[in-house]
Amino acid sequence: MDNPQDLDIIATQRLIEQYPVIVSRHFMYHFNALMKFMLNNNQVLNNRIKDYWWRIEFQNRESPHVHMVVWVEGHASFDTEEGLQQLNKVCSFKLPPETSELHDLIKKNQLHKHTHTCYKNSSESPTCRFGFPRKECAETRLVSHSSDEFIRNGGRICILKRGPEDGWVNNYNPTLIKV
Ligand SMILES: [Zn+2]
Repeated sequence: MDNPQDLDIIATQRLIEQYPVIVSRHFMYHFNALMKFMLNNNQVLNNRIKDYWWRIEFQNRESPHVHMVVWVEGHASFDTEEGLQQLNKVCSFKLPPETSELHDLIKKNQLHKHTHTCYKNSSESPTCRFGFPRKECAETRLVSHSSDEFIRNGGRICILKRGPEDGWVNNYNPTLIKV
């Protein structure tokens, strides 16, 4: 077999479609290891995870992914300044400088690239449904569920502080990205 690193996206996709059971088992193996790491490492979310809920979904290309909610011990409410500061510590949006050990990792894995799924809900004037490129924002803040900003933010209630050079960066956790 070819070196997996050398396979292009089409060949990778074909393998995923051909072997769904192996893909699912491989995914769960990684997911269980990730959960074990998160539950035993208070650095990830700055405190102990006291509860969590997750659900696995499969994209059109049959790639599994997880949606998860976690409850963190001692986390202040997001509608307080303290809560937003805690969020800023565990959820990053920055493209780190080239001298940072994270620079290459973020550049390789966390920069958004448009695909056809970005536009699946758009008609005449297609805009990315994930909100990329994301707008510059002076301070992390919450937006109301009933506001236009909430819709423009892809259904997310929080807009993170972000500079003009960070518009294409997917949010990431600085500890988890290194695992
Ligand atoms: Zn997009």
